[in-house]
Amino acid sequence: MDNILVLTHADESGSALTRASLETVTAGKELAARLSATLIIGVVTKDSAAAASSLASAGSHLLAVSGEAFAQARYGSDAAAVEALCRAAKATIVLAPGTSRFARVAAGVAHRLGGFIDTHITALGGKETVEATRWFYRQRVEAVISRTVRPWFLLLDAGTYAAFAGASQPVQIEQVTVEIPALRTTVSGYRAPQQGQQTIRPDAKMLFVAGAGWTKKQPDGQVHVTEAGELILGFLRATGASLGSSKSLVDQGGEGESVLPFLTHLNQIGQTGSTPRHQKGLSTCCHGEEPHVVGWRFIGERRAISLDPNCGWTRGKADVVYVADAFPVMAKVNALLEAKKA
Ligand SMILES: Cc1cc2nc3c(=O)[nH]c(=O)nc-3n(C[C@H](O)[C@H](O)[C@H](O)COP(=O)(O)OP(=O)(O)OC[C@H]3O[C@@H](n4cnc5c(N)ncnc54)[C@H](O)[C@@H]3O)c2cc1C
Repeated sequence: MDNILVLTHADESGSALTRASLETVTAGKELAARLSATLIIGVVTKDSAAAASSLASAGSHLLAVSGEAFAQARYGSDAAAVEALCRAAKATIVLAPGTSRFARVAAGVAHRLGGFIDTHITALGGKETVEATRWFYRQRVEAVISRTVRPWFLLLDAGTYAAFAGASQPVQIEQVTVEIPALRTTVSGYRAPQQGQQTIRPDAKMLFVAGAGWTKKQPDGQVHVTEAGELILGFLRATGASLGSSKSLVDQGGEGESVLPFLTHLNQIGQTGSTPRHQKGLSTCCHGEEPHVVGWRFIGERRAISLDPNCGWTRGKADVVYVADAFPVMAKVNALLEAKKA
């Protein structure tokens, strides 16, 4: 019988588990129930009592590696922590959120334990054994993988399971001691890739995509980049939407053209960009070409605003297309949102 270990870690506050960790707890509970397997949850954090309190009703044995050395992500200490948890749990299946913290160490620990790892898992199935689903070739081909090698590490993509929600209560935790190796890295703090306003919001209900049209010459023969920036940021402020971009728009920075200063390549959606998950998406001033739209694989309801009645969106890629000038449309939408708020 498999021993399923769910790995979790705290967020920046140090006192709560990350949403992706709680999603992995849900995945682990479902899998353990289906396979009638043992479920163990491991926590890596500075203060395990606070962070693990939300797992009181998870109905599983809790292991923790805690202390000052685990307040920050660092390869040496995190790999040692994860290895110790896997050994203490005698884990055969290890589920971990695909966060930067665990993605960095999971493959190394799998190697140390003679195991195997698969990443970007979007679903776990199977009644007798584990069947893990992931996408290949930029979300075009879906595969179901099963392996006999143990321990088998599976890194889950965020947004694929509901976050486990339980009342916060004091909880019994077994502390696992770790021999921390000589640490060569001192974490001095975070430097975010974007300065100022954070525009990438994976938990937002809506994705708003800006295309290169926002910086093109408009019917009056002029570019209106400042106005475009105000309209886009105004919409993001009013709705809390996440901001995506077409490749053409973010590439313009490298071409020396006028660009929207709050956009970076991290905002890019598509074949060579990201494939986020949101309930709804609104594309503006974007042509809807295939290398871009492939990044919309997991967007539920798609709408687009484009001047071009022949753009890719109108050819069955969006549910609703407004053939219109996005400048006045977004100005009106923002005014309506402001009025609603007032
Ligand atoms: C190997 C490869 C990988 C690629 N990967 C990606 C990727 O990951 N992501 C990606 O996005 N692209 C990718 N591309 C590029 C992609 O093919 C397109 O070139 C790009 O998506 C076009 O961006 P766009 O629609 O914003 O710009 P454009 O094609 O320039 O379209 C701008 C649109 O804005 C409209 N417009 C202009 N003004 C207004 C207005 N006032 N109101 C409304 N509409 C207006 C125009 O009618 C036009 O349709 C890739 C290409 C290749 C070859």
